[in-house]
Amino acid sequence: MNDTKIEWCDMTWNPVTGCLHGCEYCYAKKVAHRFDGKVFDTSPLPGGLHVLEDRPPWPPYPYGFAPTFHRYRLGDPASKTKGKTIFVCSMADLFGSWVPTKWIVDVLDACLAAPQHRYLFLTKNPKRYLELDEMALLPLQGNFWYGSTVTSPSTDYFTWSYTFNTFASIEPLLEPFGNSYSDQTRSLGWVIIGAETGNRKGKVIPDKAWVQEIQEYCRENDIPVFMKDSLIPIMGEAGMVREFPWEGGCRA
Ligand code: SF4
Repeated sequence: MNDTKIEWCDMTWNPVTGCLHGCEYCYAKKVAHRFDGKVFDTSPLPGGLHVLEDRPPWPPYPYGFAPTFHRYRLGDPASKTKGKTIFVCSMADLFGSWVPTKWIVDVLDACLAAPQHRYLFLTKNPKRYLELDEMALLPLQGNFWYGSTVTSPSTDYFTWSYTFNTFASIEPLLEPFGNSYSDQTRSLGWVIIGAETGNRKGKVIPDKAWVQEIQEYCRENDIPVFMKDSLIPIMGEAGMVREFPWEGGCRA
C-alpha cells in the first residue's frame, strides 16, 4: 500500500493492476509503462492475464498495463492496524469484464479481513457490481464504497443501488450533464468531480457552469460533493467544496 496525492483517500492499494478500457486520457497506463521492464512477459494466461505469486524484485509493473494479479499484496491491509481510507486498485479496473471473478473475490476477502479500513472501489463497468451482487459475492459493508467513473451523462449504470454505499467519480468531466439525472441518481452517496489533467492533445477543460450544475443537483438532493484540486483554476479556491460522506472521515 502507498501514500497518495489523491485528495479523497489516504492510501492506494493495487492487488490488481492493468486495464483494457483504453481511455485516451489514462494516467495509470503512463505510470505502468514508465516502470515496465517486460522482463517476465513470457506466457500470459488466456486473455493476456498475468498472476504474480511473489513480489518481483524489479520492475513494479513487469507486464506493463496488462491485467495482473499481485497475489503477494493481499495481506497488505491486514498488516496496517491504523484505519485508513484506501482506494483499491487505482492502477486497474478491478471490476472490468476481463477480470476473473476469483481475483475480485480474493481482493474483497482481503478487505473483509481488515475491517479497520474504509475501502473505495471504482470502475467503469458498474454492471459487474450488479452481476456480483446477483451471485451474492458483493459484500454489503458500511466501510465498502462502490464507485463508478462517469465522464458524460450517457454513461450507463452509474447509479445502480439503494442498498450499497455508492458514489460517482465524475473525472474527467468531459461534457455538461444538464438535466440528465434520473430518480435513481438520488441514491448516490457521494459525488467527486475533477477536470482532466496532463497535456493531452484535445484535452477538455470543463466550464465552471458544468461543475456548478452538478453541485446544485447534489445540494438539492443532499449528496456530498468533493471537488478535486484540478478544479481550482476553474472554480477558484473560494468556490471549492470538499465534503466526505462519512462522519469523522480521515480528511473531512
Ligand atoms: S478505466 Fe481508468 S485505468 Fe482503465 S484505461 Fe480508463 S483511465 Fe485508465
